[in-house]
Amino acid sequence: MNIFKEKNDSKHQRKAVSLGDAQQALLARVHQAGTVKIALADAAGYCLAETIHAREAIPHFRRSGMDGYAIRTADLQQLPVMLEVIEQLPSGTVPTKAIVPGTAARIMTGGMVPDGADAVMMLEMTEEAEKAGQPYVMLRKAVPAGANISPIGEEAFAGERMVEAGERIGPGQMALLSALGCAEVLVYRKPLVAIISTGSELLSIHEPLEGAKIRNSNIYMLATQVRACGAEPLFVEHIADDYAIAEGMLYKLLASDVDIVIATGGVSVGDYDIIADFFQQWEGETLFNKIAMRPGSPTSAGVWKNKLFLGLSGNPAACFIGCELLVRPVLLAMQGERKSADAQRHDAFLAADYNKVNAYPRYVRGIRYFNNGLVYVKQEGVDMSSALVTLKDANCLIVIPPAKTSIKAGTLVSVIPLAASTL
Ligand code: AMP
Ligand code: MG
Repeated sequence: MNIFKEKNDSKHQRKAVSLGDAQQALLARVHQAGTVKIALADAAGYCLAETIHAREAIPHFRRSGMDGYAIRTADLQQLPVMLEVIEQLPSGTVPTKAIVPGTAARIMTGGMVPDGADAVMMLEMTEEAEKAGQPYVMLRKAVPAGANISPIGEEAFAGERMVEAGERIGPGQMALLSALGCAEVLVYRKPLVAIISTGSELLSIHEPLEGAKIRNSNIYMLATQVRACGAEPLFVEHIADDYAIAEGMLYKLLASDVDIVIATGGVSVGDYDIIADFFQQWEGETLFNKIAMRPGSPTSAGVWKNKLFLGLSGNPAACFIGCELLVRPVLLAMQGERKSADAQRHDAFLAADYNKVNAYPRYVRGIRYFNNGLVYVKQEGVDMSSALVTLKDANCLIVIPPAKTSIKAGTLVSVIPLAASTL
């Protein structure tokens, strides 16, 4: 490439769009991943593609909440009282006798309450007794009608909407879906994400360091971020900064059966920034090639034959942030996820002054923490787009709006929890 060439092409004169507009441009072109019926046991982490109704009530019989005796509260008017124990009811057995005046049944937690009984007296409030060789129970205290009995449908009625399409299947959904007997569920396929990195300086992680080379870490970082969004990464390793190789590889990936292609590196305006060159020359439609944000302003994206292609920065922190802010919403939308990444934004108090003056909004890796019931956020590590070592400690991005002066400690700022954040 001629270094004296006038830099007046659109690779160098880019028009920055806002992050919101970039996200909307991507979301407008998302195709949902197809759906597939899978065994519930394999469905953890998938997004449900059907709304599940309760086929039966929960519980579907009057269920005892305690170990004790099923009784009639009408029998407790004169205390103490001795009741004849007419049946033993371990969990899972159906009573054969109704409770009539003067009788009780021994019942276990989860057992079916017999007809006639309107309360369960907890075992600790009773004394075993015997009369003429028959088992009896002595009761000394009153309980109200309904005590320790879960009525039919206490938690859900038959036909009620229980789990909505677009809910991600976590432990709670698993408990519910299995209780409802959904042995198979319709879920969105995990989008398959091809991840390719470019850079003649990159080595594979198996190779020893040499000269000016570094190991390709972005691909592993991105794969983990992609997994945290419920998608499946396809590692494509790295290619040298060679336009012809990159072009061939990118068209091959775009034409393959992956759902989306992500590249890292080479999106900037440097002479070897071949992904930026690709966006200039390709047969696809470029959606944007600059975003008004720091870091990662050269982040670019487009569509080729209905398939999205995103070019993220090579600098590890910029790449990480680009994935959180642009790839994550796309992957969630592909899975029909109800909760958008944006819905998880919240405010927090800035723990220390932020002094960098910005023309663009800045997305700073941060740590959210609680103090006296309030949420604070502090900057994590050095705020450099090349930072790699401290990436592991961040649990959110702090949104620093464009400002002419520093932002003071104690100011409320917006934070975006990371996909993998567990706070
Ligand atoms: P680029 O965006 O290609 O200009 O790369 C910016 C910086 O990020 C350079 O210092 C690269 O060496 C580094 N970099 C690019 N790709 C990777 C990668 N896959 N893993 C780690 N660092 C990278
Ligand atoms: Mg590069």
